[in-house]
Amino acid sequence: MARKIQAIRGMNDILPDQSSVWLYLEKTVAEVVKSYGYQQIRFPIVENTDLFKRGVGETTDIVEKEMYTFDDRNGESLTLRPEGTASCVRAADQAGLLFNQTQRLWYTGPMFRYERPQKGRYRQFHQIGVESFGMATADIDAELIILSARLWKKLGLLDHVELQLNTIGLASERETYKAALVDYLTQFKDQLDEDSQRRLETNPLRILDSKDESTQAVLKDAPNLEDFIGEESQAHFDWLQSILKANDIPYVINRRLVRGLDYYGKTVFEWVTTHLGSQATVCAGGRYDGLVEQLGGKSTPAVGFAMGVERLVLLLETLDLIPTAAKFSTDVFVISMGSDAELASFVLAERLREESPNLVVLRHCGGGNFKNQMKKADRSEARFTMILGQDEVEQGICQIKDMKTGEQQACPLNEAASFICRNV
Ligand code: ATP
Ligand code: MG
Repeated sequence: MARKIQAIRGMNDILPDQSSVWLYLEKTVAEVVKSYGYQQIRFPIVENTDLFKRGVGETTDIVEKEMYTFDDRNGESLTLRPEGTASCVRAADQAGLLFNQTQRLWYTGPMFRYERPQKGRYRQFHQIGVESFGMATADIDAELIILSARLWKKLGLLDHVELQLNTIGLASERETYKAALVDYLTQFKDQLDEDSQRRLETNPLRILDSKDESTQAVLKDAPNLEDFIGEESQAHFDWLQSILKANDIPYVINRRLVRGLDYYGKTVFEWVTTHLGSQATVCAGGRYDGLVEQLGGKSTPAVGFAMGVERLVLLLETLDLIPTAAKFSTDVFVISMGSDAELASFVLAERLREESPNLVVLRHCGGGNFKNQMKKADRSEARFTMILGQDEVEQGICQIKDMKTGEQQACPLNEAASFICRNV
């Protein structure tokens, strides 16, 4: 036998028993974002490598060690997108949607990062991103957070996630802070973990969210970013908090929250859960006023966030929050014996679908005797089975078997749909 080829490590198939949860989540998100006026944007999975180098930042984990980069047949360096924001900016700017306009956009799809696969962390994973452009004031930061809170509420997750909030100020404020932080940390360099030692030169802010104990001990007496935040950034942060309070959105301020990507400034936030072990962040975002310009566009304020779909699916499953209606189930299984009945059963099944588009009608295909077909009906876990034979066709009826009670009754064909609708 030929050797079977397996999926690539860290890249998962979403099998039929899981895909209904994905559909439920995607549908709920689509409804919520639409109710806030966000429109979907779609862009390619592959982009020029430079887009991510410039957009995400050369010294970030993503660009340093996580990208799937390859040369195409022309020798051009391409990268499977590791995140959506840079592509979203590229696409919106290329289409002339950004300059002097406001945009509310969202997208969904696979992202690729070469990370160590574990629960909640994969090499192909999926994000739902929400981005807004052209609005510099804190009201839009608040709108995005309130929108995400509404989504958690709809999904039953609101009590299971915590909003962590911080301001990381303007680029100039971070520069001054970075210098002070590096000065301080250099004295204790040998007590820092290996990654943090390297980041001292490349991306010192990231040292703040190191999980290493010894590094955290050194950080206790480090200078605080909040002491370097200027008046404008502070006012922005204060107003954001006022709006959140007025909307009864609880949050905690996490001064160590800096986010991994280069492009953030002022607001950063994460929604964190205690139910998923160390892969705790289900949604993360912030303001990135400098990115559009950094990618060659005209300066445009922007703020957005991305959710990790796999982590949200895991969370919904762990907490058993998937509504019955969202689970796949067969309402009616249709079986027939003989060619007249087979033809009539097609007409009947189509009529059911026409009259009640929400019904799941599974018409048996592939032949087989009555016993055989009934077995399939049992296995389908359908609520009702409709049975058509030569006698039924001649009388213009079908037999409807209630699969819960085992009771069977004859029903005129033209009343079958309304019978099912009344009883499922
Ligand atoms: P982490 O600190 O967990 O690595 P991150 O800061 O790299 O997260 P972002 O780039 O902000 O994450 O992506 C937003 C969200 O996408 C994360 O909060 C998470 O829910 C999800 N996510 C990120 N990387 C992965 C991955 N490799 N597998 C599954 N989900 C992921
Ligand atoms: Mg990461």
